[in-house]
Amino acid sequence: MNLNKKMSNDCLLLNGNGKPVSYFPLSTIDWKTAIRLLFTKNVIVIKNHEKWSVRSPSMEVEVPSIIMLRRFHKFQNYVKFSRSNVFLRDMYRCQYCENIFDLKQLTLDHMIPRCKGGQTNWENIVTSCKTCNTAKGSKIIKPINEPKKPSFAHLLNGHKLNKKDFPDEAWIDYIF
Ligand SMILES: [Zn+2]
Repeated sequence: MNLNKKMSNDCLLLNGNGKPVSYFPLSTIDWKTAIRLLFTKNVIVIKNHEKWSVRSPSMEVEVPSIIMLRRFHKFQNYVKFSRSNVFLRDMYRCQYCENIFDLKQLTLDHMIPRCKGGQTNWENIVTSCKTCNTAKGSKIIKPINEPKKPSFAHLLNGHKLNKKDFPDEAWIDYIF
């Protein structure tokens, strides 16, 4: 199971301990994968979506909203440096103009430009809107927050901002 693949968020996947398999990104899967997992008998349904079922010629299946692995599997669950985690750390706020943007309008910016030896890591990459990124060019501008590796708790706060995108409010009880 590759959890780093781009996923749609129809169903929350919990580990055997009742907590998400992964937090960053959140372990969510599309409904087809969820139903496929159900048939493997490796998962149990915690909650189905209300009023969402799918039909095949021979049967009707309710689409799960939350499923849990029967066993506990050890996954690496550390705060990994990635594009989405930088956005989450900065709470989708451009670190130059301080405005909050949609993902589509955000870019990653090297605070110290690569041409001046700037590296690609937590300490030098910040969230920037496209406008600021273009305007900044290869200048060095101090971002509003000093970039650093975020703690687990800090990133978890970022998920709270995404709550509105959860397809089922019940997820909140399992994530926070
Ligand atoms: Zn900006």
